[in-house]
Amino acid sequence: MPMIHFSNRIVVVSVAPSPLVVMMSETPRRFCKATPSESNTNTPTSIVDASHSQVRVFVRRNKRPRNKDHLPKVPVTKKLGLPEIEEFAYCGTSESAQWKSEMNSDVIPAAIEVSSPRSCGESPVHWEKVLEGIRKMRCSGDAPVDTMGCEKAGDTLPPKERRFAVLVSSLLSSQTKDPVTHGAIQRLLENGLLTAEAINDADEETIKKLIYPVGFYTRKATNLKKIANICLMKYKGDIPSTIEQLLLLPGIGPKMAHLVMNVGWDNVQGICVDTHVHRICNRLGWVSRLGTKQKTSTPEETRESLQRWLPKEEWVPINPLLVGFGQTICTPLRPRCGECSIRELCPSAFKDTSSSIPSSKSKKSGLNKKL
Ligand code: SF4
Repeated sequence: MPMIHFSNRIVVVSVAPSPLVVMMSETPRRFCKATPSESNTNTPTSIVDASHSQVRVFVRRNKRPRNKDHLPKVPVTKKLGLPEIEEFAYCGTSESAQWKSEMNSDVIPAAIEVSSPRSCGESPVHWEKVLEGIRKMRCSGDAPVDTMGCEKAGDTLPPKERRFAVLVSSLLSSQTKDPVTHGAIQRLLENGLLTAEAINDADEETIKKLIYPVGFYTRKATNLKKIANICLMKYKGDIPSTIEQLLLLPGIGPKMAHLVMNVGWDNVQGICVDTHVHRICNRLGWVSRLGTKQKTSTPEETRESLQRWLPKEEWVPINPLLVGFGQTICTPLRPRCGECSIRELCPSAFKDTSSSIPSSKSKKSGLNKKL
């Protein structure tokens, strides 16, 4: 990836397919275009708004004061190979992009702009076509979430027990693959330990052994005991019925609280956004930070952005739809863009493909893990 270095800024430029020369302007989203022969001069010939699909520019300010006296009168154009440049892993062709992807494929740098035809606050263009395309790809129902997701926990139990099972499943699901969570829930059920009363009475060591190998099983066993006790003391063995009360339970975050409200109480307060929903919505250009066109950096930002335009009837189905899509096709590493029927509408299509030789760490952190 070519880079241009200025005295107070480093600009990374990705240009395709024509040899466009880009020079920095005062506003990061506007570019000065010059023909190759003009590139050695300092006078921009015209100012154009560059298409996102053609040009991406990343600007990183250093900490030097912005005293214009320090700026050289003639900008120096120089190729650099600095590893600290913030590159977007999805572009995926340089070594550093590959390194970023291997280290943490779900981290979406906050300073990266959304490659989307969408304006802030508006529905993304073609979102209904995209959603329909994903639905068709998900028809086979072969993703782990379809049979082993939290929504399936205790689905044969009476409502009160079912609610508790969904809450426990949500707690266990963080940083854990769906089949592992499902196995733990099945063992708790088989041992009669899927009610607040039973868990409150059970030995913590026993719970720990039954839920192993879910991620952070020791801490989760401790939290399960505390949650069971709170449910017994404050809610007569049932679970809290508001987002606020659910968030007060140890180990329960917004993603889990919304899932429990949606599934356990059939009361839709918000979208359940896990790591798959967060990643895919950003790849599709469906979400952005409030008042900007930058990608969201946390699932909570994604939830808020998505809720600003997605019709409410989609708030519940969007989670299993995108989770399954993320488990099977739009995977964290090496998304299968060649098999994806919406690739023509996706601004990230084929931008992640070359980057992805999963390290052992990436393999462990897994395709199906959730927040
Ligand atoms: S084209 Fe690729 S990146 Fe885009 S949604 Fe499909 S699999 Fe994901």
